[in-house]
Amino acid sequence: MIRKVFNVFITVFKGLKLTLGHFFAATESRKVKAISDPNYFAQNSGITTIQYPHVKLPVPEVGRYQLDVEMDDCIVCDLCAKICPVDCIDIESIKSIEAIGKTSDGTTKRLYAAKFDIDMAKCMYCGLCTVVCPTECIVMTDTYDRSMIDLNEMTYKFSDMTAAEADEKRFALEQLNAERFAAKQLALQQNTGNQI
Ligand code: SF4
Ligand code: SF4
Repeated sequence: MIRKVFNVFITVFKGLKLTLGHFFAATESRKVKAISDPNYFAQNSGITTIQYPHVKLPVPEVGRYQLDVEMDDCIVCDLCAKICPVDCIDIESIKSIEAIGKTSDGTTKRLYAAKFDIDMAKCMYCGLCTVVCPTECIVMTDTYDRSMIDLNEMTYKFSDMTAAEADEKRFALEQLNAERFAAKQLALQQNTGNQI
């Protein structure tokens, strides 16, 4: 009987020792380190839970997360849309009647982006679009925690051109083409007249 009571006390003591050990260890948190840090496994004590979203784990530089497009540098070449294996990039371009400006690498912009949508719900994060972009303006960001209730909100719209502005650009291009066509016809008629 005495032995049984003694065993109970020993068991309770061991349990309490274990609990108190964890209790005091939980007063300290491990420092947030990137996986690339050489001391990543050096911290052996402290809790590993972080206060997300106030504290975030660093993500690898080469990680593939949400896409972003710097439209000022986009020449609307459509290469990213063509290479996309799941067709989640939807671009509508309108030819400008004159040079629009230059990108930060000096490339002349001649096309407007009336539409530049990326459906991130369909994107499989292959990164091909970022590889083919000649001006490196479509990039993977380190934003990974973007979730929406409505799937339509996963379509990111990068063009800020309004429908009225797009119509205006289309009209200007149509007018220019019509003027060029009329000038060509006139030149042809004059040539024919001279030959007669
Ligand atoms: S990362 Fe891949 S799937 Fe996603 S938009 Fe770019 S090419 Fe398409
Ligand atoms: S490949 Fe680059 S420059 Fe061309 S349309 Fe896509 S984002 Fe714009």
